[in-house]
Amino acid sequence: MSMFKWETDADKIVTITMDDPNQPVNTMNSTFQDALPELVEKLKSGVEAQEISGVIITSAKKTFFAGGDIKSMIKATPADAEALTKEIDGMKAGLRAIETLGVPVVAAMNGTALGGGLEIALATHHRIATDAKGAKFGLPEVTLGLLPGGGGVTRVVRMLGIQDALMKVLTTGRQFRAEDAVKAGLVDEVVPADQLLDKAKEWIKANPEATQPWDQKGFKIPGGTPSTPALAQFLPSFPANVTKQIKGAPMPAPKAILKAAVEGAQLRNIEEATAVETRYFVELVTGPTSKNMMQAFFFDLQYCNGGGQRPEGVEKKQFKKLGMVGAGMMGAAIAYVAAKAGMEVVLKDIAIEAAEKGKNYSEKLEAKALERGKTTQEKSEALLNRITPSVDYSDLSDCDIVIEAVFENTELKHKVWAEIEAVVPSDCVLGSNTSTLPITELATGVKRPEAFIGIHFFSPVDKMPLVEIIRGEKTDDETLAAALDFTSQIRKTPIVVNDSRGFYTSRVIGFFLNEAMRMLAEGIDPAVIEAAGRQAGYPAPPLQLQDELNLKLARKIGAETKAAQEAAGISVDDGGVTEIVDAMLDKFDRPGKLEGRGFYEYNEEGRRAGLWRGLWDELGAGRVVVSDAESSTSGRGLDTAEAQDGAPKFIDLVERMLFAEALETQKCLDEGVLMSDADANIGSILGIGFPAWTGGTRQYIKNYARPAAATLPEGKVADVDGGDYPTTGVAGFVARAAELTEKYGERFEVPESLKA
Ligand code: NAD
Repeated sequence: MSMFKWETDADKIVTITMDDPNQPVNTMNSTFQDALPELVEKLKSGVEAQEISGVIITSAKKTFFAGGDIKSMIKATPADAEALTKEIDGMKAGLRAIETLGVPVVAAMNGTALGGGLEIALATHHRIATDAKGAKFGLPEVTLGLLPGGGGVTRVVRMLGIQDALMKVLTTGRQFRAEDAVKAGLVDEVVPADQLLDKAKEWIKANPEATQPWDQKGFKIPGGTPSTPALAQFLPSFPANVTKQIKGAPMPAPKAILKAAVEGAQLRNIEEATAVETRYFVELVTGPTSKNMMQAFFFDLQYCNGGGQRPEGVEKKQFKKLGMVGAGMMGAAIAYVAAKAGMEVVLKDIAIEAAEKGKNYSEKLEAKALERGKTTQEKSEALLNRITPSVDYSDLSDCDIVIEAVFENTELKHKVWAEIEAVVPSDCVLGSNTSTLPITELATGVKRPEAFIGIHFFSPVDKMPLVEIIRGEKTDDETLAAALDFTSQIRKTPIVVNDSRGFYTSRVIGFFLNEAMRMLAEGIDPAVIEAAGRQAGYPAPPLQLQDELNLKLARKIGAETKAAQEAAGISVDDGGVTEIVDAMLDKFDRPGKLEGRGFYEYNEEGRRAGLWRGLWDELGAGRVVVSDAESSTSGRGLDTAEAQDGAPKFIDLVERMLFAEALETQKCLDEGVLMSDADANIGSILGIGFPAWTGGTRQYIKNYARPAAATLPEGKVADVDGGDYPTTGVAGFVARAAELTEKYGERFEVPESLKA
């Protein structure tokens, strides 16, 4: 029962097989760390005694090595920094010893090698991968807010040169298929699985003198070091490129990677370079952002993809045939992803031309995929043959699931469902893709409300990974389980929510957009508002996003929400948003991107061409100046105007957007619309662009870290500096919300659940 199994053959080649006795995958956990020094000692003395002529490192698991131990990394605090550094030093010394044993060492990667797994392989002289299906190779640490701290930054820089290392591997975190990993220079060859060990032995015999390039005399980093003039002239553009890549979001990892790469490249000695890397790694792993990202992109994603909300005891269902009713923008795209996953699809619309046009969407996507070599003629034809355009309900008679995506109108949907139910089998799942109509209300129009469920896709369906599953009052467990099985069959990530106006995602995103339009109504410069959105980390700033979603829709939803609130006796001050929306639509006729006129101007190709001047000239934006405008990247008006007393601060704009969405999420949890933090986090990041660095709307509250720019109220001392004013976690969030409430209004008041 050991981590490393040892086997010597007649040629004195040792095969080390990694096999964590306690886990289904190998990770850099304590089992690995504890066993490594002993392994290294045994290898060293074997080499010294001339009993070893070469070493193969492989794995007994389905994958080669999964990477760092996320379960322990997520717990690391600044107090652990010293102990952690020691641990990492130990592992690095072990890997360094392996690459300097004096005999050739080969990584025989029988499957996926990511992060720490690939770092082990990078410390060998030759990397062979098998063509195992789905195997991935790369250093995805940046996507968890970390950097490859097991020598990955240092070695990849020395293998590929600073520029390629940064741009192709380290700051993107891309996971390569074996063939692509070879092209990228991370893997040396790909072989069939049954030849893996033979090929490794062959290579060892042919290369008895193998050493790492950086241990050879006269080694130079490809493309040079930062002090090489040819490279030095490009150095100033690196930080700018990284900032551009993360769009100004407060993500420390890409910057730390850049620093570790550039500073490490200046050091000739590889031990010194990896020490620099370790320090940046420890800073990241003990900080808040990596925790947020590990929580969301590892644990929460696993929860959702693993069917965290799937009722127990319901047998798994495999779907064969989808009836897609409505072949418009959404229907056409849903048909495509289902056919791609191997399902038969009947694509039904009112006229055959409309249904065929819907199928044409798939034809176009497939033509593109063919052109790019992403599929074969045969596969592509088979996929398209699975989609049958139709105008006849009777074609749905053998479907095991129907999804309806006709126009957003209750009466029409009721009529369509009556016709669907008349033909489909009695155990057919009934799904609606409605984005706003309550599922419980729609279910009143069907005979089997227990089989009726919301299956809410996001546009563009083939790119957006999320599906929001909405359970109506009468939806039963079998239907919920089946909807989740369907989602996983089409390889999407589901969240499960209970019925409410706007469900979860549409409800919460409205608060982001509304907060931004309030700022506009307050007179804040729209360029500053957009900058605040970007620096908050949103993939698209709010006014740009509002243009894409269209103001006509915003007005419709706003009116419905308002009517519902009035009916419930709630009076709401909308901060002048209705007037802005009305003026934009009625007076200036600027609904959004589709029409080529919105908050932005658009050129003939439909590309954004700057904010519309009328926002300043007609709507009076820019009359209020943010007090620390320097920290923003505003376009106009700021250098001429002086901020008045009590003027809003830039960081307030940033946090107003984030808090607005987080607070509404908390209400969704309190009301039972959301049932788990994981659904909140994943739904907000994958569905509505809540900034990834936060770990999602709920994680943002739980692990809140007050930004330095948000200066404390006078006389207060932060709890982290020995004072008693809370600045982190839920208490920090509540304290900050109280400040925002006082300054900007009671919509920032936290619900009782948070106060408690
Ligand atoms: P769309 O207007 O592009 O398509 C609707 C299609 O339904 C049209 O092709 C129409 O001919 C067809 N249709 C109408 N009556 C029909 C009938 N009796 N039988 C068969 N087909 C019929 O609309 P869309 O954007 O695809 O939206 C469809 C649904 O999806 C709506 O409920 C919408 O709220 C929802 N939705 C839209 C988005 C989005 O981003 N557009 C996102 C999520 C959900």
